[in-house]
Amino acid sequence: MKRRAGASPIMPAEPATGADGTPCSAVFDEAYHRTDDALGQVRHTFLGGNRLPERWRGREAFVIVETGFGLGLNFLATWAAWRDDPQRPARLHFVSVEKFPFRVQDLRHCLEAMLVLPGMTQLAPLVQKLCDVWPGPVAGWHRLEPAPGVVLSVGFGDFFDLMPSLRAGADAFYLDGFTPEKNADLWTPNVFKTLGRLARDGATLATHTAVEAVRRDLIGAGFQVAPRAGHGGKPDVLAGDYAPPYRMRRYDPPTVPPQRAREAIVVGAGMAGAAMVRRLVARGWRVRLFERAQAPGTAASGNPAGVFHPQLSVDDNVLSRLTRAGFLYSLSQWRTLPGGLPGHADGLLQVATDDDQAHALQQLIAAHRYPQTYAKWVDAAQASALAGETLARGGVWFPEGGWLAPAMLCRAELVAAGPLLDARYGVNVERLERCNGRWTAIDEAGHVLAEADAIVVTAADISQKLLAPYLAPEFLPVKRVRGQLTFLPPDMLTDLRVPVCGDGYVTPSSLGGTGPITGATYGFDDPAEAIRVTDHQANLRRLAALLPAHASTLGDGGLASEHAAAELGGRTAFRSMVPDRLPMAGQLPDMAILDTQRQQLGGGHLRDLPRLDGLYASFAFGSRGLVFASLCAELVASQIEGEPWPVGSDLADAIDPARYLMHWLRKG
Ligand code: SAM
Repeated sequence: MKRRAGASPIMPAEPATGADGTPCSAVFDEAYHRTDDALGQVRHTFLGGNRLPERWRGREAFVIVETGFGLGLNFLATWAAWRDDPQRPARLHFVSVEKFPFRVQDLRHCLEAMLVLPGMTQLAPLVQKLCDVWPGPVAGWHRLEPAPGVVLSVGFGDFFDLMPSLRAGADAFYLDGFTPEKNADLWTPNVFKTLGRLARDGATLATHTAVEAVRRDLIGAGFQVAPRAGHGGKPDVLAGDYAPPYRMRRYDPPTVPPQRAREAIVVGAGMAGAAMVRRLVARGWRVRLFERAQAPGTAASGNPAGVFHPQLSVDDNVLSRLTRAGFLYSLSQWRTLPGGLPGHADGLLQVATDDDQAHALQQLIAAHRYPQTYAKWVDAAQASALAGETLARGGVWFPEGGWLAPAMLCRAELVAAGPLLDARYGVNVERLERCNGRWTAIDEAGHVLAEADAIVVTAADISQKLLAPYLAPEFLPVKRVRGQLTFLPPDMLTDLRVPVCGDGYVTPSSLGGTGPITGATYGFDDPAEAIRVTDHQANLRRLAALLPAHASTLGDGGLASEHAAAELGGRTAFRSMVPDRLPMAGQLPDMAILDTQRQQLGGGHLRDLPRLDGLYASFAFGSRGLVFASLCAELVASQIEGEPWPVGSDLADAIDPARYLMHWLRKG
């Protein structure tokens, strides 16, 4: 049965200990580790069985895929070995899944209790760092970077929901579900076949069991495993190489890219471009950034305030899963900026617009069993207390939602990029050309501005024009949608503490800055830049419905009267969006190769499309730039580097810049 990632609520692990004090799982009735020399066993079985650290030496990056994260001891031991190895690769990717993740306080408690065991004290700083970034129990992939160069992608959910859609090329596998007797599901030919799809040339595998059926089925899936002695005289374990006797899979996993100069061009310095620069620089790339305006974050990213929160839905649809991954990843990225998060992430309220919606939201929150740190239902009284303003209905409280000034974020991200970034403002990139395997950006006068291995176009609706020679505009159907904000006088809504959203939104006054900001209108096919009084009035009427206690001051008899609204300040910006309102993020298709192959692609899949080496895009964020920019940047950077993708193909396909082309090809 095909299941969808993220659809089921997550049941956190309940901490329990066996008679000897070892943490164990009540669900599987088995200990997570041995009491005597757990670290020695991990080192022997998993690192030794995969011939690590020797095999990662001389590599730029190394990818390990594990089944069952548990308490993360395998991860911690691998990280420690990487940390202590002077010949380590620049990036260690550890990818794991966990159906029953520990809550952070339980993870910390169990791991700290284990630190007294022989040899474990050296893991103490790593335990601390892991717990600092460990997410709440919400479904889907979480991309964590507990230390520079150590990337942990942990999927909360069932192996069968997550691993089949993982896009990664694995160099080593750790098979560590509980024993086959206690957890037969994780030791089936199907599981091994799924892992085989991820194996790169030369990949190895190790596991703690030598059960004959496991050995037989691993060999059947292309893993030539054989028994080897267990640690300290314990029973045998299995290890071996991925060496299928014949081609067993339709698609090969992402390969290690060839050696390159690691130079990139990014076009556009809004939220998309600034995040892109940061994710590339984190991987040691030199980036030339071009922006036609005189400063970063001036177009849609120049609004003085933007709100951020995930979307919720009954069926946990693509938008919910994507905004959840994006929201959590953005927060983790912003918190590591040198000056900390440049805004407020201390709560946001989504107020129900009517009683039916209130009922539906309440049921949805209960059904998904979100942790209270992620989303929680609050009634009208609780919502009012949190907001500091009287609200007519309850709603969803996102404790880590909030608001910030996008241009400040762009600047902070570009400053954090440091000397690897060369940013040029007031420069118009007119076209992009490919020459001898390298890409060039060219200005209106025909001068070459820069040359690089890869170009990422992050230029909102201008992206369509720049990409047109490579993908026809009909397949990049980006529209400009006008949005007008209204600036309220600074002495209004002074008690408002957090942003309130419903039909429209309002953000509080920024300290010492402007007054509250409310918006925004949606104007399709409306190119007018000038502020319109009627749009202010529309914003104010929506706000009056959101904050009924202020209806008389805000409504038609007050601020929304034509005379008063005409006095208000505001800002017009243009969102860029495509019809499905999802971002365009990823590698462009190669139309030249496609033209020669079209016959074979009629009913094909996005994975069948040939891709244009070195050309990527990240744009069309609509009004969700704050939630999408960092995740899309990380996805593109991962594709450029052949690293594990931060989201599964269920989400990556939904935002693939070739999806409109694919729809057309499928129609024949
Ligand atoms: N590797 C872990 C460590 O180093 O601490 C120990 C893993 S423990 C032996 C096995 C883990 O697999 C458990 O945490 C269990 O919840 C998880 N697990 C079992 N079945 C699973 C499934 N179908 N999908 C995802 N995780 C699963």
